[in-house]
Amino acid sequence: MCVQCIQEVTSQGLWQVLYKQQGSDDLHIVTAPIVILAAGTLGSNEILLRSKEKGLLVSERLGEGYSSNGDQLGKPPS
Ligand SMILES: Cc1cc2nc3c(=O)[nH]c(=O)nc-3n(C[C@H](O)[C@H](O)[C@H](O)COP(=O)(O)OP(=O)(O)OC[C@H]3O[C@@H](n4cnc5c(N)ncnc54)[C@H](O)[C@@H]3O)c2cc1C
Repeated sequence: MCVQCIQEVTSQGLWQVLYKQQGSDDLHIVTAPIVILAAGTLGSNEILLRSKEKGLLVSERLGEGYSSNGDQLGKPPS
């Protein structure tokens, strides 16, 4: 399953998650009172940026400040 975006059903205090199954362009919707977004660093930003295009209110700084793994940056050259 690939989550496309999240939208708020403002009148009911609910959230809709729009997703597609792999290999299909059909859009499915699941509705829930609480949605926890845990699609990783890139995936979560991608979903939120797509949701922003559809009207979700998010910070203007969404997607900014991304950097590499700190452990890798601190590694001395071999
Ligand atoms: C090469 C590498 C090595 C690492 N080594 C370490 C380490 O040694 N120690 C350590 O602490 N951390 C390490 N990390 C970091 C660690 O992987 C992350 O901190 C941790 O996995 C983050 O967990 P997460 O659940 O937030 O995201 P993820 O583990 O990235 O899980 C996100 C999940 O969401 C899914 N997803 C993404 N987009 C969508 C979508 N649109 N719809 C549906 N599902 C979606 C993905 O397929 C994935 O299964 C490493 C990362 C990398 C890339």
